[in-house]
Amino acid sequence: MSKNTPKAIRGTQDIFGADAEAFAYVVETFERVRKLYRFRRVEMPVFEKTEVFSRAIGETTDVVSKEMYSFEDRGGDSLTLRPEFTAGIARAFLTNGWQQHAPLKVAAHGPLFRYERPQKGRYRQFHQIDAEIIGAAEPQADVELLAMADQLLKELGIEGVTLHLNTLGDADSRENWRAALIEYFRAVKGDLSEDSQERLEKNPLRILDSKDRRDKVFLADAPKIDDFLTDEATAFFESVTSGLDAAGVKWQRAESLVRGLDYYRHTAFEFIPDEGSAAADALGAQSTVLGGGRYDGLMESLGGPATPAVGWAAGIERLAMLVGEKGEPQPDIVVVVEDDDMIATGQSAVSAIRNAGLSAEIIGTGGKKKRFDKAVKLGSHVIIAMSDGERRLRYQTEGPVRERLVAALKDLGLN
Ligand code: ATP
Ligand code: MG
Repeated sequence: MSKNTPKAIRGTQDIFGADAEAFAYVVETFERVRKLYRFRRVEMPVFEKTEVFSRAIGETTDVVSKEMYSFEDRGGDSLTLRPEFTAGIARAFLTNGWQQHAPLKVAAHGPLFRYERPQKGRYRQFHQIDAEIIGAAEPQADVELLAMADQLLKELGIEGVTLHLNTLGDADSRENWRAALIEYFRAVKGDLSEDSQERLEKNPLRILDSKDRRDKVFLADAPKIDDFLTDEATAFFESVTSGLDAAGVKWQRAESLVRGLDYYRHTAFEFIPDEGSAAADALGAQSTVLGGGRYDGLMESLGGPATPAVGWAAGIERLAMLVGEKGEPQPDIVVVVEDDDMIATGQSAVSAIRNAGLSAEIIGTGGKKKRFDKAVKLGSHVIIAMSDGERRLRYQTEGPVRERLVAALKDLGLN
């Protein structure tokens, strides 16, 4: 690399090899599972007007106040690279009249951008899978959404990750809890982190989410939401938890779990690796793999009608770190052309094989003696060598895969 070759932007990744296979495996599994739950795919713009995020997520959140990639375009509009999916999907719901489809179950995946300090499992361009149910007020929606997340993790083969569940109550419960938190933290204001001192009056719930040691010592004794829940909010939470039990989804109560964003009501949750588990070792300090909750107030913040909704998002990179090594799959068949006169025969064989739905590689360049060795190294099940005017077959594996390939080659007249 020469000195004047431009470098990649800090916090971006060029994903390749085993990491890219693990990434694709997460997305493919998500695609399969979202179809089982009948979520519809949406493709969303990567950028939106800045106000979509600042109004939906809230000015006082870290995401809006510190992490957004915002810029003025050539027309003078303030635009922002999306830091999350939910706000853009909510905007689309309103601007496209998707109310007619409510309750609407949608799924999306793709890149997101946050100006954060890059470290293991934390990037400036990262990727999420995302699922939302919009226009559904019933706790059954929360249950279905959580059952889907749980099944996804199981199908990915991820173990040692537990659903931590909380309720933030309805607007009244939340308001009373908020007032009690302000009173509690005001008494120790001087000992809190600078960030939390600032959060205190504007957004005290977020102090509970703080990772700063100076704040953490006060968290255990802070007022608990359960003391402020209205009867309605209690009943809602009970329906969610009994639904989860019925669906066989294991969960654990997490009284001080709040989510970083302003728009949450009622259910809030995170899937977090268990202490001491392999998943916790793999992820280090960046522990939450999947998080979300109910955001009944969000549509109104974008000027829409009150619209209950619930959703979650998970970092694809963090999930990919937990799925274990996913090697690049070996080809079913390799065609080696050692006799240059047979190149056309080789080419027609390899295209017949691919048209029949089998994966194949053709090797017909480079030193003739090395071509066969290259084919062996690719680790295919079957090698077809074209040499001295003849076609020769070599089987590299035993068992059912080989049986299947032998039958297919026979159909193609290549045996
Ligand atoms: P954290 O507390 O780790 O900053 P968050 O609360 O900001 O997470 P959400 O906004 O809920 O995260 O996003 C959902 C998921 O997206 C997270 O659980 C995580 O898996 C992933 N995620 C969030 N930010 C990043 C990032 N900068 N790099 C990689 N993955 C991320
Ligand atoms: Mg964050």
